[in-house]
Amino acid sequence: MLYDVIVIGGGAAGIVAAISAARAGESVVICERMPRLGKKILATGNGRCNLLNDNLSEEYYNTAGRALVRSVFEKFGKKEILDFFKSLGLEVYSQDGRIFPATNQASSVMKVLEMELRRLSIPVELNFTCIGISFSNGRILVSSKEGETIECRKVVITGGGRTYPALGSDGSIYEIARQLGHTIVDPVPSAVPLVAKDPLCQVLQGQKIFASARSIIEGTEGSSAKGELLFTNYGFSGSCILDVSEEISIAINRQHRRDVYVAVDMVPFMDRGKLKDELVRRKKANLPSDEMLAGILPNKLCLALARILERDDLDSAVGVLKGMRFKVDGTRGWNEAEFTAGGVNVDEIQPVSLESKFKKGVFFAGEVLDVDGQRGGYNLAWAWASGWVAGLQSKISRD
Ligand SMILES: Cc1cc2nc3c(=O)[nH]c(=O)nc-3n(C[C@H](O)[C@H](O)[C@H](O)COP(=O)(O)OP(=O)(O)OC[C@H]3O[C@@H](n4cnc5c(N)ncnc54)[C@H](O)[C@@H]3O)c2cc1C
Repeated sequence: MLYDVIVIGGGAAGIVAAISAARAGESVVICERMPRLGKKILATGNGRCNLLNDNLSEEYYNTAGRALVRSVFEKFGKKEILDFFKSLGLEVYSQDGRIFPATNQASSVMKVLEMELRRLSIPVELNFTCIGISFSNGRILVSSKEGETIECRKVVITGGGRTYPALGSDGSIYEIARQLGHTIVDPVPSAVPLVAKDPLCQVLQGQKIFASARSIIEGTEGSSAKGELLFTNYGFSGSCILDVSEEISIAINRQHRRDVYVAVDMVPFMDRGKLKDELVRRKKANLPSDEMLAGILPNKLCLALARILERDDLDSAVGVLKGMRFKVDGTRGWNEAEFTAGGVNVDEIQPVSLESKFKKGVFFAGEVLDVDGQRGGYNLAWAWASGWVAGLQSKISRD
């Protein structure tokens, strides 16, 4: 059978691409290498699926991806994504700008998507690992590792990035993009815990604090983020670490820089002056050094940091507490990263249609592209929106 559209990859972007193409009257099939669709969707938001953010704008995405993101959100932005899920029957709510299904279950998101695939009678080829795309007499042939070949007029590639390979996207899709002439911006793990062989991490492992983290790469301060910080036996995790990890991961894994640090402000809720005044007051009251931070930091940290409060130079103690530097030795890698920084070079993609500039009839959407957003629903928002546009544009470009 000759399909109008083959969608390679049955994740967030692929499922929505198939729905938009089918709603536009196209015959469409999804080819997915795993035994079921949407495995990663089920794992998102710790099983709650943070599917969107109230403040959807290109500024929350990597610099290289922004023009493409703007172009896609102009066609299918926050309102359209909400309307889409409403049309599927999904109720949502917003918490601090993050939008979740009302059920707090990622499985509800998956369920309504699967119901729509069924309503539209969209066939799904599971255990179909695409290994090649070829072109013959105006037709596109998609071949699988399992020995099948399916024909179509248009193909939408939504094979994802490289994170959590056990959930399906293992980066093998980049090879297909390369075969088509595309360049790949070296993919590195993002939103990923950091490895730091600092004895303090060992001592404090399991301890959580509210902190602010900042990346420092070869002496240059990068972005910062506030939130939970977790000391672990290997280094650091927690939301503020994940939020600053991209710059660090790019510096270490892509640019092979060695002089990379994370600076931790352990008391972001007190400015330097206020902290100094409080320490002076406690010093005058002759508090022992291991009680100097009692009530400000957890007791375990009070003990671990007592040494720096033995000194009389409280300015330097404040400096350490407000910017303790830890050398970063690496990242925890693909099995612990939430998304991929890097992917198919966006300069090689038509911004209006998401069609390849090299191969007519080939479209890309989702994490396979060099587009990544901040944590908070931005990556799924990109997957839904780009999937919709690529699925729909595949028809428009033919008409
Ligand atoms: C643990 C975790 C939690 C996350 N939580 C959130 C969150 O709450 N909010 C948010 O916005 N983002 C979150 N993300 C990121 C978000 O899930 C992804 O950015 C998004 O799912 C990407 O969608 P996609 O369709 O592009 O790729 P994927 O969801 O990875 O789907 C790609 C699909 O393609 C298939 N595939 C790959 N290669 C082939 C091939 N050669 N042939 C056939 N099929 C192939 C894969 O098996 C997979 O099913 C999270 C990620 C992780 C890992």
